[in-house]
Amino acid sequence: MSRLARAFTLLLVSGGLISMSPACAEEKLKFEEYQDRAVTVLCDYLKIDTTVPPGNEARGAEYLKGILEKNGIEAELFETAPDRAVVYARLKGNGKKKAVILLNHIDVVPAEAKDWKYPPFGGEIHDGEIWGRGALDMKGMGVIELMAMIMLKNSGIELDRDIIYLGTPDEEVGGEFGAGWLQKHKPEIIKSAEFLLNEGFPIESDEKGKAKYWGVDYAEKSVLWLELTTEGAAGHASMPIPGAATYRLVRALKKIDDAGPNFRLLPEVEEYFKKIAPTEDETMKELYASIDSSIKKKEHSHALLSDLLKSSMLRNTISLTVMKAGYKTNVIPASASAQLDCRLLPDVKKDDFITWIKGIVDDPTVKLSVLEWNQSDPSSMETEMVAAIKKVAAAEDAKVPVVPVIVPWFTDSHWFRELGVQAYGFQPCEVDKEHFATMHGKDERITIDAFKKGVVRMYKILKEVAASEAK
Ligand SMILES: [Zn+2]
Repeated sequence: MSRLARAFTLLLVSGGLISMSPACAEEKLKFEEYQDRAVTVLCDYLKIDTTVPPGNEARGAEYLKGILEKNGIEAELFETAPDRAVVYARLKGNGKKKAVILLNHIDVVPAEAKDWKYPPFGGEIHDGEIWGRGALDMKGMGVIELMAMIMLKNSGIELDRDIIYLGTPDEEVGGEFGAGWLQKHKPEIIKSAEFLLNEGFPIESDEKGKAKYWGVDYAEKSVLWLELTTEGAAGHASMPIPGAATYRLVRALKKIDDAGPNFRLLPEVEEYFKKIAPTEDETMKELYASIDSSIKKKEHSHALLSDLLKSSMLRNTISLTVMKAGYKTNVIPASASAQLDCRLLPDVKKDDFITWIKGIVDDPTVKLSVLEWNQSDPSSMETEMVAAIKKVAAAEDAKVPVVPVIVPWFTDSHWFRELGVQAYGFQPCEVDKEHFATMHGKDERITIDAFKKGVVRMYKILKEVAASEAK
């Protein structure tokens, strides 16, 4: 807002001539104040050890409830198991549109204090960074969502949608006692929402903290766990048996390994690579800019596969994880088995993939069974929520694109997508490669600068998607 416009608005407000419009309501908010408060809230939150198992997330839920209530937002706890709880709060809108859920998980993965530079549950600040298990995954985001909701309330802006805050336990071990519990026991909360924001891709930045692009996860890959089993005669290893179970299994696995990366390009993934190409180094810039032809040339496979995360969007992946056979060096075992963790692109059907594997193995004596199957359920990139994120990003720097991302892991978003919610994984903070690697690793931390920007960005996105008069 220009100085002239601001003076004019103040004049009108002081004269009592108009009611609160979003533009002048925002004038009341001092962003820096909320950003500073968010830092304090996060440091204290990181001190609460919610390592799962066992989680003990009720203490974290209680803490978040306290902050919400101190700020005039009523909050409830749902006990999902002893010492484990969901925190739920709702900022009411006029009900013209369905709600937005701000989802975050309270639990964190274990941290070995001796491996860390600063204590993982210290919530300490060093060199402009907030340290602690959960700073990125995902207590930082939980506080960003919380503070943005408080800002929205204090702005006095009328909302067309309710804003729902959900902090959940158990995410890191499957979500059965968190988001899964909500799906089972409180489906009406989930069904009242059109959109959900959850943990996900950050704003990828260079080592100086400059944003390269904003990633929005619209899909997670399907999870297919397979077991291959072979059976045959057992015997004394001094007299090898032709076609022994162990060798047939090894041959089958070798064929799968030799099958190559089998790159494929979904339209959203093509958009992703072409838009991020200018931000990459010279080699990758060229490969990504013409990704449609790069994936067809064998000589580029090695370079494309060197980025494990990005290349996972280009193919169905297979990881050989568990192998079992034999118990004694001089005994040929009667059976052998191997487990494969396969992650499939969202448009791939389970049965088609299994038929493909069987064709590669080409041995009817190798038995194949499904251990786990979770179908991916992508959300649309053509929604008001994505438009809001794009608008906020463009207002900051029109040259930094917002791009669709498929992530290879899965989060709690699927519990909500299953009930028809458009869910997005997104963290509105600059994170570089080095910091990204600290999630589930050691020395997890977030820069204060990125975290503070995230608070304001989240507020602006929510305002854009929910405010009555913002359109
Ligand atoms: Zn997480």
